[in-house]
Amino acid sequence: MGGIGEGGPISFELNNGANIPALGLGTWQAEPGVVGEAVKTAIEIGYRHLDCAPAYGNEKEIGLALKEIFQGNVVKREDLWITSKLWCTEYDPEDVPQALDRTLQDLQLDYVDLYLIHGPARLKKGTKGFIPKNFAPLDIPSTWKAMEKLLDTGKARSIGVSNFSVKKLKDLLIYARMIPAVNQVECHPVWQQHYLHSFCKSKGIHISAHSPLGSPGTPGIKVKVLEHPVLNEVAEKMGKTPAQVALRWGIQTGYSVLPKSTFEHELRENFKVLKWSIPTELLEHFSQIEQMRLVRSEYLVHETGSPYKSVEEIWDGEI
Ligand code: NAP
Repeated sequence: MGGIGEGGPISFELNNGANIPALGLGTWQAEPGVVGEAVKTAIEIGYRHLDCAPAYGNEKEIGLALKEIFQGNVVKREDLWITSKLWCTEYDPEDVPQALDRTLQDLQLDYVDLYLIHGPARLKKGTKGFIPKNFAPLDIPSTWKAMEKLLDTGKARSIGVSNFSVKKLKDLLIYARMIPAVNQVECHPVWQQHYLHSFCKSKGIHISAHSPLGSPGTPGIKVKVLEHPVLNEVAEKMGKTPAQVALRWGIQTGYSVLPKSTFEHELRENFKVLKWSIPTELLEHFSQIEQMRLVRSEYLVHETGSPYKSVEEIWDGEI
């Protein structure tokens, strides 16, 4: 864990020596027309880490924003950490390098800092949406081998996975030449991921926390993490907001956090989590919070089409 300034880490060292900034900007559900401005504003505020994916449908607009940022000498490419993900229609090993090339073209970059397998489900090439008849058999060993080859091209500097349970990581580690640098998973005070975290720690896999505020705007999310009494109590005692407390909790736990916003006031609020700490006596209160997975991916469950017959199966019982 590296860091400058008072109050703690600004980056985490990965198992390949790279440093991932502790705070990144999420870009899922950041609509076309606003995402570019949000990226430019975030970088001007001081964000140095963007979490992207072709599945979010906005990499082209982010690429245009990055081009402007670089042309304006706001930051240099090497000052930024940019993550993208291999979408689940591209898991055939032959498709993996082309998928990355498309993302690089859209983002107008020569390389990404981190490239992730987006999740443990596969769809036939060209599929739009999760149509049961279009699920395809998963073959993570061959997809991972193709991911490893990307490192040799220099177009991806680190590789990892997303939404992998302990069981799925254990399976991958049996054949992996390169241990994933990162597992990006849902993580916030209501879903703290202690079991997955201790396994990942033992193997040198960093956890990046997606939905670190509990994804409040997403339909179907029933629990409002930011309204939890523990967060509000800690926020009040520390003169912070519940969002800042959630993010600071994540960073102090050892996770990089990826809050999404397109509003300048929230981008500024979420950025102010790097120079202070939640004291141990307040940190202990987080252990009282009832745990539940909120981003459950029910759409992956189907009796005949999908490899998953229940939500429990997707997460190998970690729910
Ligand atoms: P999130 O960051 O937990 O929450 C985003 C929501 O919180 C938005 O509705 C946003 O509202 C609101 N918000 C932001 N800052 C706030 C603040 N200070 N106070 C109150 N509300 C605030 O959820 P997420 O977008 O699901 O996750 C974050 C990122 O993780 C994604 O954007 C994506 O990059 C990544 N992710 C990855 C996966 C995966 O499968 N790998 C899955 C989910 C997410 P506004 O939009 O109105 O600002």
